[in-house]
Amino acid sequence: MLKIAIQKSGRLSDNSFELLKKSGFEFETSKRNLSAKVNNFPLEILFFRTGDIPEIVNDSIVDIGICGENSTIEKISNKSNFIKIIERFDFGKCRLSISAPKKINIENKKIATSYPETLGKYLKKKKIKAEIVKLSGSVEIAPKLKLADAICDLVSTGSTLKINGLIELETILHSNAVLIANKKISEEKKEILDKFLNRIRAVIQAQKYKYILMNAPRSALKNIQKLIPGLKNPTISPLSDSDFVSIASVVEENKFWETIEKLKSCGATGILVLPIEKMIL
Ligand code: AMP
Repeated sequence: MLKIAIQKSGRLSDNSFELLKKSGFEFETSKRNLSAKVNNFPLEILFFRTGDIPEIVNDSIVDIGICGENSTIEKISNKSNFIKIIERFDFGKCRLSISAPKKINIENKKIATSYPETLGKYLKKKKIKAEIVKLSGSVEIAPKLKLADAICDLVSTGSTLKINGLIELETILHSNAVLIANKKISEEKKEILDKFLNRIRAVIQAQKYKYILMNAPRSALKNIQKLIPGLKNPTISPLSDSDFVSIASVVEENKFWETIEKLKSCGATGILVLPIEKMIL
C-alpha cells in the first residue's frame, strides 16, 4: 500500500482533498482521524502539518506527500536528500519575502523568520551579513516587539504584511504546492505510484481546458480551426442546413474568453461550454 501525507487543515488542505476526491479516490474523513484508508485503491492518507511533510517523506515514514515547495527547500539539506518533486500544482502559490516597517538596507540587521535555512543560504549567496532570529510563528509581530528589524516570511495576498505595517523589500523564493516522493520506494510501490499519478494528472490536465460545442458557417471553418486546434483536430459534423457545421473541440482555460470572442467574430453561434472532468492523453 502506498502512503501519502497531506495537510489536515490550512492553506493546502482543501485543494489536496479536492484533488484526491476528483481523481476518484474514495475515502472518509472526520476531524478527529489522523489517517484514512482509500476504499478503491491501495492508498493510505495520513494528515500532517505541511512543514513536517518533507521530513516524513525523506525518512520513509510515508512514500509521497503534498506540501509547499518552500517547506521542502527549508527542511531538506543537500546531503540527506531522498526527496524528488514529481508534480507541481497550481495551488498554494506564495513567495518568501523579506519585509520591514520601512525601506531599509538589511546589512547587519536582525531578521526574524521560520525559514532560517532558506534565508541563511540566500544571505550567504548575496554576501549579506545579517542576524537570523528563529521564530516558529507570528513572525510579522517581531518588528513591533523590537525582536527584529525585518522579517522573512511567506506572502500570498500581502494583506498580513499590510495589517502589520510592513512593506516587502525583496522576494527570495517563489513557491507552489508540490507532490514529493521518496526516491527509494520499492518497485511494487512505484507501480502503484504510476497509477496514482495517471489518475491525478488526468484531473490536473482536465482543469486546464474547457470542452466547447458550436455551430458555424462552413465558409468560416478554416479560420475557426486555426483558433481551436483541439488536442489534435476539432470534430466537425454536418447539420441539416448544409451551409453550416457543428464543431466540437477544447479551449485552453487561460485563453478562454479571448478565444470565444474571436470565434464569435468568425461567425460561430450557439456556443456551449462544458467542464471536463478528466483528460487522458
Ligand atoms: P497573506 O496575508 O495572504 O499574504 O498571507 C500571509 C500569511 O499566510 C503568512 O502568515 C504566511 O506565513 C501564510 N501563508 C501564505 N501563503 C502560504 C502558503 N502557501 N502556505 C503556508 N502558509 C502561507
